[in-house]
Amino acid sequence: MEKFVGSFTQQESIPDAGIEAAVAVMRSGRLHRYNTAAGDPGEVALLEQEFAATVGAKYCLAVASGGYAMGAALRAVGVEPGDHVLSNAFTLAPVPGAIASVGAVPIFVDVTSDLTIDLDDLQTKAGQAKVLLLSHMRGHICDMDRLMAICDAAGITVIEDCAHTMGAAWRDTPSGRHGVIGCYSTQTYKHINSGEGGFLVSDDDALMARAILLSGSYMLYDRHLAAPPAEAFADLRYETPNVSGRMDHLRAAILRPQLARLTSQVEKWNVRYRTVQAGLKNTPGLTVIHRPPEETYVGSSIQVLLQDWEDADIRIVLQRCAARGVELKWFGAPEPAAFTSKYDQWRYAEPTPLPQSDAVLHGVIDMRIPLTFSVEDCALIARIIRAEVSIVWQGRAAAE
Ligand SMILES: *Cc1c(COP(=O)(O)O)cnc(C)c1O
Repeated sequence: MEKFVGSFTQQESIPDAGIEAAVAVMRSGRLHRYNTAAGDPGEVALLEQEFAATVGAKYCLAVASGGYAMGAALRAVGVEPGDHVLSNAFTLAPVPGAIASVGAVPIFVDVTSDLTIDLDDLQTKAGQAKVLLLSHMRGHICDMDRLMAICDAAGITVIEDCAHTMGAAWRDTPSGRHGVIGCYSTQTYKHINSGEGGFLVSDDDALMARAILLSGSYMLYDRHLAAPPAEAFADLRYETPNVSGRMDHLRAAILRPQLARLTSQVEKWNVRYRTVQAGLKNTPGLTVIHRPPEETYVGSSIQVLLQDWEDADIRIVLQRCAARGVELKWFGAPEPAAFTSKYDQWRYAEPTPLPQSDAVLHGVIDMRIPLTFSVEDCALIARIIRAEVSIVWQGRAAAE
C-alpha cells in the first residue's frame, strides 16, 4: 500500500538573496523601519513600493500581521465600537477577531458550496452594516462584479482579506483591488513568508494616511515611498491614535526576493493543485469545488466536499488518510482544532445560526499544498485520498 511521507507544514527555505539581505540588516543594527542610513530608504519602504506596483495600487503599508492589517483597515474606514460589520461565515479566526479588536460586531454571511460568500444572503443583509470585511477564504473568489454592485448600491464600504489570494485575480483585476482597502498576510503559511507580517493597499489618500499613522509612524511618514503626500496627514496626525504594528527591515529583507518570484511560485502551486484536483475528479461521494473561469487562483491549498456524509464516516476517511501520511483538515468538526474553527465556535460574536453554512461546512475537507511537495507527491496524495474515500463510501452504500 502506498504511503506519503512528506510534511504538510514544511515550507521552502528563504531565497539566498533574502538571507543575505537579512544578514546585512542585522550587521547594520538598523532593524526599525525608520532607522535608516542617509540616502537609503530601507528595506520596508522599498518592499511597500514593490508590493504597490505588484497589485497596481497607489499606496501600500507593510505591517506586523494580516490580522493587524484588517484591524487597521476597519479603524481607518471609521468602524467604531458597537458597529456591525458584515463578514464571511466561512473564514479563519483572525477575520472576526479583527472586527472584535475594534469593538465591532460581526454579522456572518452564508457560504455557498463553491466556498464563496453567498451573494443572495449578502443582498438580504446589506441593510445591517456599512462595512463588509470580505474574506477570500482559501483563495476562492466570489463574483466580484455582482458583489461590488450590491455593496455600491447599499453604500457598503468593502475591505478585502486577501490572505489566500496574493497573486490571484478576478477578471484580471488583482485580488484586493476591488474594495477600498486590500489586506494581505505574509505569515508562514501564506504566499510569501516572513513568519509574521502583512500589507494594506489602497488608492485613497485619507484612508492610507490614517492607516500609516495608526501603524505607529511617529510622524515619520515622509520616509515612506508608497504613501500619500504630506497634506493628507496634516489634520489626521492630530486625530489618529498610534496602535503600533509596524513591519521591520529584517522581515522586509526576506520578503523582497520572495515577492519578485511570486508569479513563478503561483505557477508551481497551480501545477500541484491541478494534479491533486485531476486525481480526485469523479471520486464517488466526493465533490471537487467548482472554480469560475473569471477567477485566477493560487492553488496553495485544496478543498473538497463530502456532502451529506455522516460525522463518523468523515472521521474514518480522515483517520485512514492520516494513517497513509495524508493530513486533511475538517471544517465541520464539532470542536475547533489547530487552524480550523468555524463561525458558531466564535461565541464572543454571538453568531446567529446559519443552516445553509452549517450544511456546507459540515462537508468541507481542506488540505495544504506546500511547495516542498513535488508534482509526483501530489499525484500520490490524490491516489490515497481517492482510494480511502472510495472504500468508506462503498462500505456505507453496502450497509444501507
Ligand atoms: C492567515 C489568515 C489571515 C491573517 O492572518 P495573520 O496570521 O494575522 O497574518 C486572515 N485571513 C485568513 C483567511 C487567513 O487565513
